[in-house]
Amino acid sequence: MSDFPTQAPFPTQANFPTQANFPTQARVVIIGGGAVGVSALYHLAKAGWTDCVLLEKNELTAGSTWHAAGNCPSFSTSWAVMNMQRYSLSLYRRLAAEVDYPMNYHVTGSIRLGHSRERMQEFERARGMGRYQGMALEMLQVADLKARYPFLETHDLAGALYDPDDGDIDPAQLTQALAKGARQMGAQILRFTPATGVSRAGDDWVVHTAKGDIRCEKVVNAAGYYARQVGEWFKPYGGRTVPMTVMSHQYFLTEPIPELEEWSRANGKLPLLRDVDSSYYLRQEKYGLNLGPYERNCRAHWVAPHDPMPDDFSFQLFPDDLERLEWYMEDAMARVPILAKAGVGKVINGPIPYAPDGLPLLGPMPGVKNAYEACVFTFGITQAGGAGKVLAEWVTEGRTEWDMWSCDPRRYTDYTDAAYCEDKAVETYGHEYAMHFPWHRWPAGADKKLSSLHGRLQAAGAVFGAYNGWERANWFAGPGDDLSEDATQTWERAGPWEPRIAAECAAVRDHCGVLAITGFTRLLIEGPGARAFVDGLTASKLPREGRVGLAYFPDDRGRIVTEMSVINHGPDKVGLITAGVAQWHDAEHLWRHAPPGITVTDHSDKVECLLVTGSAARAVLSGLTDADLSLPWLSVQEAVVAGCAVSLLRVSFAGELGWEVHCALADAPAIWDAVTAAGAVPFGMWALNSLRVEKGYRAWKGDLSTDYSLLEGGLERFIDWGKEFNGKSALLAEKQRGLKKRFVTLTLDAPGAADAPYMSTIWHEGGIVGETTSGVWGHRVAKSIALGMLRPDLCVPGTAVEIEIFGERFAATVQPDAPLWDPANARIRA
Ligand SMILES: Cc1cc2nc3c(=O)[nH]c(=O)nc-3n(C[C@H](O)[C@H](O)[C@H](O)COP(=O)(O)OP(=O)(O)OC[C@H]3O[C@@H](n4cnc5c(N)ncnc54)[C@H](O)[C@@H]3O)c2cc1C
Repeated sequence: MSDFPTQAPFPTQANFPTQANFPTQARVVIIGGGAVGVSALYHLAKAGWTDCVLLEKNELTAGSTWHAAGNCPSFSTSWAVMNMQRYSLSLYRRLAAEVDYPMNYHVTGSIRLGHSRERMQEFERARGMGRYQGMALEMLQVADLKARYPFLETHDLAGALYDPDDGDIDPAQLTQALAKGARQMGAQILRFTPATGVSRAGDDWVVHTAKGDIRCEKVVNAAGYYARQVGEWFKPYGGRTVPMTVMSHQYFLTEPIPELEEWSRANGKLPLLRDVDSSYYLRQEKYGLNLGPYERNCRAHWVAPHDPMPDDFSFQLFPDDLERLEWYMEDAMARVPILAKAGVGKVINGPIPYAPDGLPLLGPMPGVKNAYEACVFTFGITQAGGAGKVLAEWVTEGRTEWDMWSCDPRRYTDYTDAAYCEDKAVETYGHEYAMHFPWHRWPAGADKKLSSLHGRLQAAGAVFGAYNGWERANWFAGPGDDLSEDATQTWERAGPWEPRIAAECAAVRDHCGVLAITGFTRLLIEGPGARAFVDGLTASKLPREGRVGLAYFPDDRGRIVTEMSVINHGPDKVGLITAGVAQWHDAEHLWRHAPPGITVTDHSDKVECLLVTGSAARAVLSGLTDADLSLPWLSVQEAVVAGCAVSLLRVSFAGELGWEVHCALADAPAIWDAVTAAGAVPFGMWALNSLRVEKGYRAWKGDLSTDYSLLEGGLERFIDWGKEFNGKSALLAEKQRGLKKRFVTLTLDAPGAADAPYMSTIWHEGGIVGETTSGVWGHRVAKSIALGMLRPDLCVPGTAVEIEIFGERFAATVQPDAPLWDPANARIRA
């Protein structure tokens, strides 16, 4: 079908000169010369780290970059990804002039079509986030569309989103421009120089090539779809299998279309079109069109033993497979009928790497010191600029300007085997443009880790969600509840889950609930001075021996790295309990800082935790245990519950009287049976979320992130100013300077159908004054609640503000700096 060569006419190693002065030493070696690796080199050099080398096994761009369509959207529903893309686009506008390398970069704007009310709500949300980031995304009515895109059929549309910054760039030119800039600053690029392995020399890395070894401080895996192969070299040093799958992605270019040519000569280039509900992009390319679908019937490559990944696929493509795209072609022809008037010209079917969630791996390499990842990009052209900046910050400063957890490689832990990666990649690719509703669970890759209570939870009607691979109950369904995926396709709070969550919250408030918090992360810090080590990392006062306390860990800017529960076992042993998803992140934060002699061990897989909480929790437990249930809030005791040895921690994230019962996995069923027989009602994570927001308890990587300092997070009461700790001087300076924003609880005066999603804009007198970080219906207080960050002068109880939720502004009121539910904490201390 295609006349496009599957081997592009680029120079080969044979006719390319070898490097005269091969560098044997560098500060950083980047493996991979695609758009992302080269941008990382450029940004390292910009940061003053010019003594860096990039190795490319073939010519620059030989991986996915050379054949990319080069579309450059700013659109994302992830705050971090939008930040990254916004930065890229502003860089691309000035790069050609900055490095004196002219590029084909067309900022045409784009139209993203919406077929449904829910899609238009998604667009409103992105528009709000974009506005907050300084971009001018615009909602379009159906009637406006033809004026911007005359060839469009619009009868079945609900509207559209216009992104004025969108466009297309020549990916090879972009890469060459970044390379030129990097070289101008003194960085080196070695083409036709494959890295062949790594080893250690003391604290340094040695990167091996056929031309010689390079000793360096830090290494970056930017090998694109070869990242897994490169990642294997790091296994002897603590690395893991890189969680990714290579998919094929196709687009085709049509022959010139006379109508388009005529229109274009008078009007310029059409905006880029995305029909996200049908799942494709359509872009003008010269006087033809370029159609690129993300098809449901997609294909993973190099996943079976009979189809191994070739050692070298530089500048190669997969055979055309247009049959797979037929439905999309027909749909696009109905949408833009001139598409049907031209024959297919070139077809590009190239490898594109996918992490299970479709976001890149960008940040510290899990388990390995001084190694980083900037790989597995599915939108690596539009993200390359921002990704280079983020990578350079990780390498040079050990932290990033924006919180980048959604792209952090440590978000995946040991459950991401090959089958999981493939199932998820196929699902994510086929739904690349899908909406991610808060109630919807993507079905692929379920059941990776089951607790010993799984059968019991199922029998009780649990509807599960995955937390670091562990299945936990989100809510418990009753007879007749609609459990279809269709029922979850809403941004609104109402749905089959709503009355069930209400009942679960009421059970906790009025009696007693039990929640299996399977997969909590548990770390043990041991060795001489273990407690002093933890004390120096956290801003918080450690609890007395035999007690549990909450501790906040800032970075050197005073921003919130993490929050953990600390159990003080004595000077040489500290137990830490933290979120399931924080498992590798938090363990690394500790071991990267640990001095010799201090060990950090992970016991997460050995212990189950049941939260038994509610006003009647003492009565429920009293018949089952020898424990002293009169010990106060934050006490810790070893005890026996239902005949099983447990640790009882008197804490409750639900904000009621309660205990966390920590026990061996095998003992959990007996304890579950006993507490439920004694009247405890199973409740799920979604009820817990509502209960914790009513108490103003923050959640990690929502309310607590490196976007905010401890002071901004309203956590000063957890700071022990009387001791030295990481980040103290920055926090003192910030206190003196005054805060830019501050944590606040808001209630909506007349709530709409949806609660505030993450990063909803807060308005006051027509100006933007903050953002929400959590939003939920509080069943005990019967209010829609938002937690968020607000301009400090407005953090006065009673202040009226507005919260923008899916494009509509709702009146809200600033609440006192205390929990909405049980402000005196009488119930947890009862
Ligand atoms: C058909 C198609 C269309 C696309 N369209 C778009 C688009 O419109 N917009 C967008 O943003 N993205 C698009 N993408 C995705 C985009 O191409 C990638 O995300 C991007 O190119 C990734 O860049 P990279 O630098 O991470 O990886 P790559 O470009 O794959 O670069 C990795 C490099 O590492 C080198 N390498 C590997 N192993 C070694 C080694 N051992 N030693 C030295 N070097 C090594 C490889 O030779 C390669 O050059 C498209 C992808 C496809 C397949």
